[in-house]
Amino acid sequence: FFTQVPRIPPDAIFDLTKKFLGDPDPRKVNLGQGTYKDENGAPWILPVVKAAKDKTQDANHEYLPILGLATFRKLATELVLGKDASAIALQRVASSQALSGTGALHLAGEMLFRALGGEAPVYITKPTWSNHRQVFATIGFEVHDFKWYDDNTGQIDFESITNTLRNAPPRSIFVFHASAHNPSGCDPSEEQWRSIARIVQERGLFPLFDAAYLGITSGDYDRDAFAIRHFINECGLQAAVCSSFAKNMGLYGERIGLVTFVTQSSDEAMAVESTLEQITRGEISNPPAFGARIVSAVLEDESLRAEWARNLSTMSTRIADMRKDLFNALIKLHAPGDWRRVVEQRGMFCILGLSLEQVLHLREKYHIYMADTSRISIAGLNPSNVWYTAEAITKTVQD
Ligand code: PMP
Repeated sequence: FFTQVPRIPPDAIFDLTKKFLGDPDPRKVNLGQGTYKDENGAPWILPVVKAAKDKTQDANHEYLPILGLATFRKLATELVLGKDASAIALQRVASSQALSGTGALHLAGEMLFRALGGEAPVYITKPTWSNHRQVFATIGFEVHDFKWYDDNTGQIDFESITNTLRNAPPRSIFVFHASAHNPSGCDPSEEQWRSIARIVQERGLFPLFDAAYLGITSGDYDRDAFAIRHFINECGLQAAVCSSFAKNMGLYGERIGLVTFVTQSSDEAMAVESTLEQITRGEISNPPAFGARIVSAVLEDESLRAEWARNLSTMSTRIADMRKDLFNALIKLHAPGDWRRVVEQRGMFCILGLSLEQVLHLREKYHIYMADTSRISIAGLNPSNVWYTAEAITKTVQD
């Protein structure tokens, strides 16, 4: 039965975590997978999540509706688009709970494949999150990539972005990172987002926002949602938003996310929602309840929302501080190279610009684990390992 099944190599980033966990060296540093760790290098259960869990203790274990928990969908949609979004008032929004950000991308892709007959290509940035191509190619889309970031300058390549948008066929789907581009940490300025939105509108393209880092990028959720709200609320564009509560609430394993489609009319929104419902019924029947209850408990309570804002600020401030500490250490150690990108880029990740040989050397000699591309997750740094890491990088670059 299985003679034709190829053996697929393990996913690179999950495999890296496995190698890190199996390394007995006490100096080991994990800068691979993008999960937030506290100043002791331990996973952080957000205080707001602890409080929300207490509130959900009495919940039963019945099935949720196919589209997910209604309060979660309502509150999370208002969170992403802004409570006053006219698309919500005009009932032009369709939403469904999803299996975290990845599940939301998958549902959005399935929906768009049905809507566009698979004719429209999907454009993803280069570089991008390692799963984007797979998510859309598995559905059947033709996936193209376009240069987002220039490794030589450590900056976004705005000309490449606008040229790609201008030359893509109408109805093409563009996957934008709403904030904290993974892996480059390079986001367009507000002015650049405005220009991108103008071209998207002129050319009749479809924007799909991958929103995995809202709130944890700057510590201010509304600020991080700027691009989404500009496209949808100010420009009146149709769009999809795939949001995740993995990073911004630390709910990685709960797989809680939301897909939101903004359409032209309430009739279209109802049709899209009914299609999302059918897709989910065929795939997982209905989504898991636990994460949805936690997120709802946070969003429906003003004092918990305020606590969440404080927790977001704790995470984003610690990440920003670690960027500064790493940068200062590299400068103090006279590490050869231009390290400004470490402090200029945003969010959890930074591409150091090392060769594969250097990355492997860091792994073997110093037990410092980072993606082969030399992307590091800043959240893996803390006051006890940042100097050691900077020294190891310096020695490796000097060799
Ligand atoms: N999009 C991007 C850009 C990401 O970095 C991630 C997580 N690393 C995801 C989506 C998906 O995250 P999850 O499915 O865990 O919510």
